[in-house]
Amino acid sequence: MSNTHPQGEFELIRDYFQRQSLQRADVHMGIGDDGAVVSVPVDKQLVLVMDTMVAGIHFPLQTSAYDLGWKSLAVNLSDLAAMGAEPAWLTLALTLPHSDAEWVKTFSLGLFALASAYNIQLIGGDTTRGPLSITVQAHGLVEKGGALLRSGAEVGDLIYVSGFPGEAALGLILLQSNLQHHPSYEHLLARLNRPEPRLGLGRSLHDIASACIDISDGLLADLQHILDASGVGAEVLIDGLPLSEDYRAAVDDKQLYRAALSGGDDYELLFTVPKTKQAEIDKIAEDSKCLLTCIGEITEGNTIRCLDAQGNEYTPEHLGFEHFAE
Ligand code: ADP
Ligand code: MG
Repeated sequence: MSNTHPQGEFELIRDYFQRQSLQRADVHMGIGDDGAVVSVPVDKQLVLVMDTMVAGIHFPLQTSAYDLGWKSLAVNLSDLAAMGAEPAWLTLALTLPHSDAEWVKTFSLGLFALASAYNIQLIGGDTTRGPLSITVQAHGLVEKGGALLRSGAEVGDLIYVSGFPGEAALGLILLQSNLQHHPSYEHLLARLNRPEPRLGLGRSLHDIASACIDISDGLLADLQHILDASGVGAEVLIDGLPLSEDYRAAVDDKQLYRAALSGGDDYELLFTVPKTKQAEIDKIAEDSKCLLTCIGEITEGNTIRCLDAQGNEYTPEHLGFEHFAE
């Protein structure tokens, strides 16, 4: 329909999302009615998370439609992972400057690739015109009372982080500095644009972690959220931070720890564990093939002290990325 009215084109786009291969048995009405209808198991609780990505603020304008589809879901799945939840359904609010079927098709390929991998079905949403903005709400399930919260950390608990924090922030720096020829560019950019939500890890931390959060604003900034919610402090040993080869290749020595401590967009899990459960963490790391590194300990107080190998205090320049910060 070449002379379709713009509103009609948006309807085509909306209809496009109906063509997904994943069909969960617990979805009674998905896209196509005024609302979606799903069955929630009686022995479970629903976990709801939402994240908005605005063009030019949460992602550079040149980010591909595929990467945006992937990442807009990945950041929400990461929140579900941090809650220890199993993904079930998602809704999508898409604001587009103009209707562009090709863009939407590519966007949906990125989104559906991740959705199929984690058995989460798109069941509705809204499509509007305006500056490019993507909001996903993801719905997950946990056993009753089984959600991982930020509030359970206790003095003496060990602090762990998954993967290699800081890589995504370095990917953004390389991108913005036009360093496409850098040997670590591909890897670090993929960490920025295609984060892998730590869902398996989050599920297995049930009954083991005392507190958990996913790193979106930066390791220290997000650790502070655990401290605030739990009423405790922390000591972080910076020499124990897991820094990958690609990470080391992209930073100068003077700023060695900066991205790992303060860079955002990692979507790794940061969690605390009673010392008695250390062996269980080693087993989870082995089974899930996910690097889990102990980076410090929960203390009394309400702030973070970073220490180097000699026990000297290290003062980071800033905690992390804050919207509306000066
Ligand atoms: P209404 O006017 O009743 O709100 P819409 O025309 O906005 O209905 O949407 C019709 C159907 O298409 C609904 O099931 C809605 O959830 C779905 N939908 C609209 N936009 C999207 C989108 N971006 N992604 C997924 N589903 C969508
Ligand atoms: Mg309606």
